[in-house]
Amino acid sequence: MSARQCPNCFAFLPPGQVVAYSYDLVCPSCQHPLEISALSRNLPAYAGLVAGAIVWWLASAHYSGQPGALGWVLPLLLSYLAFSIVAPLVLMFTADLTLKPLDSIVFQYEAPPSHHP
Ligand SMILES: [Zn+2]
Repeated sequence: MSARQCPNCFAFLPPGQVVAYSYDLVCPSCQHPLEISALSRNLPAYAGLVAGAIVWWLASAHYSGQPGALGWVLPLLLSYLAFSIVAPLVLMFTADLTLKPLDSIVFQYEAPPSHHP
């Protein structure tokens, strides 16, 4: 099974939908609720953390001579941006989708509008 493929009907989900709606995934072809497997959730997070640590290390070495707040703010900002870019990109390419168990789906029923006298 390749990445972002529905295990029910083998249709591919668009990468933007997997990243943006990772908790409320629904297959566009068979309408079955889907979820991202545990390994596919953890792998992008760790990849983002490693990328953030590398960027922080490089930026700290580069900005260590800067006086004032820039010496420690910029490495933090750049490492946060690196995490924010790398983690979704890895999720786009490694998202392994599984069928969501039906007992974990919360159905919402709307009450009919009540008319007050
Ligand atoms: Zn499907």
